[in-house]
Amino acid sequence: MFVCETVEEETLSLKPMNCPGHVQIFKFGQKSYRDLPLRMAEFGACHRYEPSGSLHGLMRVRAFTQDDAHIFCREDQIVEETRAFIELATSIHEDFGMTRDHIALGTRPELRAGSDEFWDRAEAAMLQAARAAGVEPRIAEGDGAFYAPKLDFQLKDAIGRQWTCGTIQLDYVLPDRLEAEYVAEDGQKHRPVMLHRAILGSLERFIGILIENVAGAFPMWLAPVQVVVATITSEADGYAEEVAAEMRKAGLRVELDLRNEKVGYKIREHSLQKIPVIAVVGKKEAEERQVALRRFGSQAQSVIALDEALGLLADEALPPDLKRGRS
Ligand SMILES: [Zn+2]
Repeated sequence: MFVCETVEEETLSLKPMNCPGHVQIFKFGQKSYRDLPLRMAEFGACHRYEPSGSLHGLMRVRAFTQDDAHIFCREDQIVEETRAFIELATSIHEDFGMTRDHIALGTRPELRAGSDEFWDRAEAAMLQAARAAGVEPRIAEGDGAFYAPKLDFQLKDAIGRQWTCGTIQLDYVLPDRLEAEYVAEDGQKHRPVMLHRAILGSLERFIGILIENVAGAFPMWLAPVQVVVATITSEADGYAEEVAAEMRKAGLRVELDLRNEKVGYKIREHSLQKIPVIAVVGKKEAEERQVALRRFGSQAQSVIALDEALGLLADEALPPDLKRGRS
């Protein structure tokens, strides 16, 4: 671990994982069985000194952000918490357009802690949770952590490569080692069970996977630039600026191309950048308050009124969860 002393004699260090920190938060103040399940989420910045030879684009980096969470619960809450997580992760993977190949249930490894009865019970709980979510997991013999079984989400990208994105792991050990406890209905102190879970894994790696999956052509809601407003002639500059401003007001991420270039050249350039929408405006569009919309991957162009275009594009740019919320 990287440790540094400040001039005020504080000791600072970079964390390689979020788990122990969340146990510390759990231990802050007394917890009762009524507080459980207690779910703690963090987009946690982690640092690991990976060997330089293993670093690879966004896929493996030394500083990354985990979409991490830990669920502290009672043993009888494991199945329900795991089921709910599987459904949440599934819906988020679908929103990103990733297809699931299967969920793997990593079972007891050769070298392990805990009795056979413990492993029987823990594996059965994970299996039951998966089935409750409508999933029949593929058994990955011996693939569990040394202290408990886990479920891993295996996603498939557009060209059939598989990626592990999303995991949920049972853990009885860390709460024990760090002495987390809650007061149960019997008035006694008990250890909670900890579920480690991530939906995407690391944001950096997931962005890498996404870029590969869509070959750089992001869907409208994810595209860093959603619309480029491109002029045919400098006579339309004022109107183009107005169009861009209106689009930004409608919540769109817009760039303006007023360069003194042929419009065909501009379209080609922005198409190579895989911009989802190019809004072409010339003298005629300016006079009639219209825009000519071209979609990435299509030669067709539709000329519509600016007001109509604003509504249409703002709708298209909504993230899938918001779209669902409205339908
Ligand atoms: Zn963890």
